[in-house]
Amino acid sequence: MRIDRPQGRRLFIARLSYEGNSFGPLTADRAAFERTEWVRGEAAVQRAAGTVWELAALPEFRARHPDWALVISRCASAIPSGPIDDTLFDAFFSEVMSDLRAALAEGPLDAIYLSLHGAAITHTRTHPDLDLLRAIREQCPDVPLAATFDMHGNLPDEIGPLLTLGASYRTHPHLDMSELAARTLEGLVLCVKQGLRTQACLVNTGILLPSINMRTSEGPMRRLQEAALRVESEPGVLCASVLGGFPYVDALHTGASVMVYTRADQDPDGALARQVAATLVANLRAERAAFFVSLPSASEGIAQALTSAESGLIAVNDSADNPYSGGASDTPAALAALVAADPLVPCVVASFADPVLVAHARRIGVGVRFEARIGATHGTLFGDPVVVHVVARLFTDGDYRGTVGLLGGLDVQCGESVVLTLAQRPNVKIIVTSSVDPAIDPAFYRLHGIDLAQERLLLVKGKNHFRAGAGKLCAQIIDIDAPGPACLDVSVLPFRVLNVSARNAVTS
Ligand SMILES: [Zn+2]
Repeated sequence: MRIDRPQGRRLFIARLSYEGNSFGPLTADRAAFERTEWVRGEAAVQRAAGTVWELAALPEFRARHPDWALVISRCASAIPSGPIDDTLFDAFFSEVMSDLRAALAEGPLDAIYLSLHGAAITHTRTHPDLDLLRAIREQCPDVPLAATFDMHGNLPDEIGPLLTLGASYRTHPHLDMSELAARTLEGLVLCVKQGLRTQACLVNTGILLPSINMRTSEGPMRRLQEAALRVESEPGVLCASVLGGFPYVDALHTGASVMVYTRADQDPDGALARQVAATLVANLRAERAAFFVSLPSASEGIAQALTSAESGLIAVNDSADNPYSGGASDTPAALAALVAADPLVPCVVASFADPVLVAHARRIGVGVRFEARIGATHGTLFGDPVVVHVVARLFTDGDYRGTVGLLGGLDVQCGESVVLTLAQRPNVKIIVTSSVDPAIDPAFYRLHGIDLAQERLLLVKGKNHFRAGAGKLCAQIIDIDAPGPACLDVSVLPFRVLNVSARNAVTS
């Protein structure tokens, strides 16, 4: 046990923040990561500066601990979609392990911090985060190792004892990511400086929870996070987390979990960790039913918006195609419902990702009517394309700087994009990008010449993170459920590995 080495401590850092939807039609390839985050060394710190993401905690960590040197390996994230390309993941994995061995060759490491998500998948790996953790633990069996996870991570029990400390976000929308990293890093420093060992208890309950009702401003997840915070203040408890899981992963470890770490000097046999975890599991089971809500269909939600007594902008959230849940901005049902409703008020549809349509519109040019097939470019599992006559009004390069929430302080590239209007209803504007964009930031709309204050109905492929962005400008937000890879009732999705109805029967 290394107890005190006041000078020249070294912390190794790597990051893989990715949530994979087994039913998302897109593969997360190198280009997808390079569009979002594919950096190492100081570039990783600079990219996170001024954002809410985990590595934004590093400058403060350096200021508090000037005796610690940071060895920053590959840091990677991409907007959620389908599985990660295996070649890309293998390159990431090899690079991190190679960096780790090189760092060890230069001298001992005092600690390792991994910024993970917990719901990554590749085409061949069901839990690449776990594969990375196993490999690092094998290489460094005695080095204090901490990891942070998204609240939507699916964590197998095996992860618990691999870590010295592990914790997950407490807020959804996830505005506490850098706070979590800062807190976890302080815990890691404490473990190193005091030579603390820890006891772990991670319990994956197997419960499948819909993510739509997982906000922490109110409701069951708020109560669960408050309970975790309470037990974390008990003597001997270092971290206590409740993870809602990500039900769109077709794997046996999919499910909500709780994760607890205690001080081994106060909990030598791990009984306290197990008891605290059991309490949180009981809370989770007690709240299970409260997560299940019913939502209006697309046509019902649009009708509600068009007849609403609220003044101002009303958002209709097409949550089943939410890019932050792995949607590809491609499902057509909500647009079809809007077209059928034939609205007379100013409307924005945000957004579809279709580089072929953007290029086609570019060839035709501004102001010329043409027939467009919108949506379902990756297949008709979730509906047929909407065929409409449109007119291109504005083209952009797709570059903007995020201003709030998850995108605040980040440069975003959604590729060349176009604003189309319906030929018969020019009050209905449809944004089409080349790459999937979460459409949560007011800057995205400004880029497309749209002042949301002048609009009445915003049909957006969003879920909860929208509320910490452009959702703040809305007088009312109506969540709807339409066919899509992140739909409310996961039992309608074509699972092959996970038997959803059997799982629900066991865990209810
Ligand atoms: Zn999440």
